[in-house]
Amino acid sequence: MGKCRWMVVVAMACGTGLVAAQDNATRANHPMVLYAARLFDVEAGKIVTPGEVLVEGERIVAAGAEVEHPAGAEVIDLGDMTLMPGLIDVHVHLFLHPGAEDLQTVEESVPQRTILATLAAKADLMAGFTAERDMGTEGAGSADTAVMRAIDDGLVPGPRLRISGNAVDILGGHEDANHFNPAQHVLSNADRANNAEEIVAVIREQHKEGSTFVKMYETGPDSMVNGEFHTPYQYTEAELKAGVEEAARLGMNVGVHAQGEPGTLYAAEAGVASIDHATQLSDETMRLMKEKQIPAVPTFTIFEYFAEHAGSPEAAAREKVMLEYKVREFKRQVAAGVPMAVGSDVGPFPHGTQAKEFELMVRYGMTPLAVLQADYLNGARILRWQDSVGKLKAGYFADVVAVEGNPLKDITVVERVGFVMKGGVVVKGRQ
Ligand SMILES: [Zn+2]
Repeated sequence: MGKCRWMVVVAMACGTGLVAAQDNATRANHPMVLYAARLFDVEAGKIVTPGEVLVEGERIVAAGAEVEHPAGAEVIDLGDMTLMPGLIDVHVHLFLHPGAEDLQTVEESVPQRTILATLAAKADLMAGFTAERDMGTEGAGSADTAVMRAIDDGLVPGPRLRISGNAVDILGGHEDANHFNPAQHVLSNADRANNAEEIVAVIREQHKEGSTFVKMYETGPDSMVNGEFHTPYQYTEAELKAGVEEAARLGMNVGVHAQGEPGTLYAAEAGVASIDHATQLSDETMRLMKEKQIPAVPTFTIFEYFAEHAGSPEAAAREKVMLEYKVREFKRQVAAGVPMAVGSDVGPFPHGTQAKEFELMVRYGMTPLAVLQADYLNGARILRWQDSVGKLKAGYFADVVAVEGNPLKDITVVERVGFVMKGGVVVKGRQ
C-alpha cells in the first residue's frame, strides 16, 4: 500500500477532502494512474475527456484519454477535475517577501533570507508551480544554490529551479543602492560588471558558486515623460553578447530585465533567452523577437500589485499610468506575434498567489489557450527543460497538477490548484 492510499484515508478522516502531504513525502514504489474527467493536451491545444496519466518512478509513462493500467497500479481518482502539466513561472524572487524591498535586503541576514526562501519555494509548489526561474537573489549572493540543492535532494519541498545567484548590473545601475547615504557604502543587490571583461568574470564566479543561468539588468531607472516611457540602457549590444556567449560556453542562457528602447533592441540583437518586463518594444525589436523566438515576459502581476499597494495617491497614479501604457504596448506585441512566456515577478507580493499572471495576460488580450501554451512551451524552453517539463507526455517528469473546471473556458481555475504531483510524488492531494 503506497503513500497515496494512506493520504486518501487521512483526507476522508479529516473530512476536508484536501490534505497536504508531509514535507518528506516519498515516491511510491509501484505504478500510479492519475484519473480525472479531463486532461489538457498542451501540444494539440485541446481538452481530452476523460484524462489519464500513468506514472512510474519520477516519470510519465503514458498520458491521454486512456492509458494502460499495469498490474499493481494504484489509481488516484481525481473526479471532476482537469489534469495539466505543473505550472511554470519564469520570473520569481524566492529571496524577496512583501514590504520595503530595498530595506529587507539590507536589514535581513542571508541565513534569515534563505530560510524565508525555502518557505517561498514551498508556497509556490503548493500553488502548482513545479518549475521556476529565480531571477536573482537580490543581495543574497549564491544562497539560492543551497535552496536548489535542498529541493533536489528532497530535503525541502519546492519547484525545480534555474538559479542565477545575484543578477549582473553596472555601477550606479538598477540594483545599486543608489539612494542610500554614500558614506555608509551600502552594497549593490547585484554583482557589478562594467564592461565585457567584467561580465565574463562575474558569470564565471557565479557559475562556480552554482548558478544555472544568468540574469542581467539592461535598463533603468524608468520614467514617464509626457505619456512616453523612457529608460536608459545599461549594456551595449556587444557587452550583452559577451554575456550570452560566456553563458553558452557554460551551458547556460541569459535572461534580462529590459523595459524599453534601446535596451530591449540590444538584448534581442544579442540573442538573450527572454526579455523580462518588456514594457516598450520597437517594431524592429518585435520583428527580431519573433524571428529568433525570444519570448517577452510581461510580469503584469507585479505592476498591478504596485499600482494597488502604492505608498501615496501620487505614487498610485504613477503606477496606474505605467500599467495602462504597458497594457497598450502588450496588445501591439501580441498583434505583432511576439512570443510570450509567463513570469509573475512574485516575491514583492506573496508567494503562492502568482497564478494571477495567467488571468491578467488573458484580460489584456491573449486567449486562455495561448497563455497556457506560452507558459508550458516557451517557459520550458527558457528553462532549457523543453524535453522534460511542460507536457503530459511519455518520458517527461511526472509534474502534474489538477484544477476544477476547464482552464480553456475559465483561466482563473489555475489560481485554485487542488492537486500537485512533482517528480511522481504527490505533494498536495485531493479525493
Ligand atoms: Zn524581478
